[in-house]
Amino acid sequence: MLPSIYHSQQPLTVGILGGGQLAKMLAQSAYKMGLRVAVIEHGADSPAGVMTKHEFTRGWNDEEELQEFIRVSDIVTLENEFIAPEILYKIAEHRLVFPAPETVALVQDKYTQKQTMANAGIPTPHFAACNSVEEITEFAAAHNFPIVIKTRKFGYDGYGNHTARNANECAVAWNKFMGGEEPRPVMAESFVNFIKELAVIVARNRRGEIAVYPCVQTIQQNHICVTVLAPAPIEQHIQQRAQEIAVACVEAINGVGVFGVELFLTQDDDIIFNEIAPRPHNSGHYTIEGCHTSQFENGIRAVCNLPLGSPELVGGAAAMINLLGERRGDGVPDSVVDFLKHPYASLHLYGKKESRIGRKMGHVTAVGQTVNEAFARARDAVEALIW
Ligand code: ADP
Repeated sequence: MLPSIYHSQQPLTVGILGGGQLAKMLAQSAYKMGLRVAVIEHGADSPAGVMTKHEFTRGWNDEEELQEFIRVSDIVTLENEFIAPEILYKIAEHRLVFPAPETVALVQDKYTQKQTMANAGIPTPHFAACNSVEEITEFAAAHNFPIVIKTRKFGYDGYGNHTARNANECAVAWNKFMGGEEPRPVMAESFVNFIKELAVIVARNRRGEIAVYPCVQTIQQNHICVTVLAPAPIEQHIQQRAQEIAVACVEAINGVGVFGVELFLTQDDDIIFNEIAPRPHNSGHYTIEGCHTSQFENGIRAVCNLPLGSPELVGGAAAMINLLGERRGDGVPDSVVDFLKHPYASLHLYGKKESRIGRKMGHVTAVGQTVNEAFARARDAVEALIW
């Protein structure tokens, strides 16, 4: 069992599976709290790996490396939900792992994830697991085109989704996902005609205490989130209902840690569940400057079973803009000094070695009294960046 983290001989070490930007920001919070971190990743010099002498670069599939990572970690969490559950169960034989391996396994498969939410009474699109192209077209006949065909596992930033408007497009999607050397089982969903995409971050510790962040609006381009507005420009009762649904989602999977819940808002003010991420979420990066306690700090607190900090906004509003790679090459913009002339915007560069088109290289957050003010501050600063 984990001793109370502030009553041990030396600072406890939080082991993080994954070394990307989410691990980096988790590590920044852990250090702030007087803890240490260990990072395991496939490859050296990851954004989080460079922060600690406990950097394991051969990845969790290397048995020796994994055992050494387990040895130096007092408790383990993750930044990446695509880790094979067997690895998490193996770690759990020696250390506490949060979110629990059962939770991650359930969430990893978008079909079991949606089933769990639907069973808990949370509104979802119509959905079905499909084992043949005929099953997909039958689903479409029952629920009307368009439909969204999704790989059940390993989808991110829209890779793994295909919207089909007719039977022919169903066959195209089936062949794309199931026709290759490594077939990827799929599910079908009814298309939600949403007017806004919303997201809510929820932290939940092992005692079941909860911190629920404001409901934000996320704006995507090419299926990648580009902008987050906090709070979402929606009516108060919708804001509250979105938060209630997000909490219900985390409770439905017995989640411990920090979670991002993605929702759709329809014309009729219905809120429909899209998906849950069992880790810090891009829609919650604004919480570093925007809220009393960031999603990353509350993630660490939740995993360590500490009291959670306030998720409330410090000003009236915040806005976040993702910095997506615009070229292949260096991971740092050419004009950081010009950016820094904007005193109300915070620049986060993840320290990735290489930029690629569309890759998340960093983000910018600004706080303001209104969402418009916060967004204008962030946007003006971003415009000063040249890649
Ligand atoms: P990923 O796991 O790749 O992020 P999502 O399932 O969240 O995939 O889908 C990515 C985007 O595709 C969503 O943000 C939304 O814009 C769109 N999308 C997903 N499911 C639906 C749906 N059922 N109806 C309409 N749009 C959808």
